[in-house]
Amino acid sequence: MDRYEFESDNTAAICPEAWAALAEANEEQAASYGDDKWTRRVSERVREIFETDCEVFFVFNGTAANSLALAQLCRSFHSVICHEHAHIETDECGAPEFFSGGSKLLPIPGANGKLDVTQVETAILRQQGVHSPKPRVISITQSTELGTVYRGEEIERIAEFARQRSLFVHMDGARFANAVAALDCAPKAITWEAGVESLCFGGTKNGTAAGELVVFFKKELAREFEYRAKQAGQLASKMRFLAAPWAGLLNNDVWLENARRANERAKMLAEKLTATLGMKPAFPCEASAVFLRMPEQLVAQLHGRGWHFYKFIEPDVYRLMCSWSVTEEDIDDFIKDVKSSSAALSS
Ligand SMILES: *Cc1c(COP(=O)(O)O)cnc(C)c1O
Repeated sequence: MDRYEFESDNTAAICPEAWAALAEANEEQAASYGDDKWTRRVSERVREIFETDCEVFFVFNGTAANSLALAQLCRSFHSVICHEHAHIETDECGAPEFFSGGSKLLPIPGANGKLDVTQVETAILRQQGVHSPKPRVISITQSTELGTVYRGEEIERIAEFARQRSLFVHMDGARFANAVAALDCAPKAITWEAGVESLCFGGTKNGTAAGELVVFFKKELAREFEYRAKQAGQLASKMRFLAAPWAGLLNNDVWLENARRANERAKMLAEKLTATLGMKPAFPCEASAVFLRMPEQLVAQLHGRGWHFYKFIEPDVYRLMCSWSVTEEDIDDFIKDVKSSSAALSS
């Protein structure tokens, strides 16, 4: 039997609350292109959650959200500083460069998937004046691609550094909910209060089918963004069907409940792997992912038993991702198979 539980948080279903809201939106006719009550409600709710009067746009997915947000902040001769494992660098097929008309990404290393200002500064010092693209944005991912979480102070430090050099701070929040749940903080504390200008707020991995939000905390930065989104094919004609599931997530803090559950499951998975098999996570398990170093033979055994997951970093670091829908039983099934696979290999 194929098991997709740990392959990605995209393998999960639509969560019941998002599904119910979608069904409700489907009961009546409504205005198109976002001029409807669901879109208005979600935008209002986002302003409430962030406790500020921000601009909110819907696009279809995270690649579009990141690319268009970055294109909005950059001109073609600018560059975007990001972590070498950043989704914008590794997984977006050059979309940020494409939609910005040439802005270059400057990927830099950093422990545990996080940017560190010292290394950012080194990268900036390596630029050759007019001969290099001009750094314009620092992009950070929260929670990170390696399952860690930036603390508020870390974001403030990066943003302060950015402010001194007239750089914008962009946050890829495909798993923003997991970070808020992990830190148990006010969303504003790790965004605009800390100095983040633009957030791509992800709902897909949190329980919807599609539709991510691009948030600008300074209204002037959002100028004409609606045209940019439309030109990129990212203005949904029946926007209410992207918005309604978001209403399902944001009402009654379902988004935080889902994220908390995913985080707890990842923690449980990490703890059980350590306790029963002595396998320690390769990075601190702070959100919804567990990274493990595994020998190829063990991986082959687990794949043979139906478990889907993949190598994240060469030569031997694999990612196990938990969504809101992973159960304790899924975890126990996996642990059981890791145990018997290990036993089979050592006998
Ligand atoms: C999943 C993900 C995205 C969005 O990816 P799409 O497939 O374009 O929706 C963006 N950033 C990170 C860190 C992600 O994990």
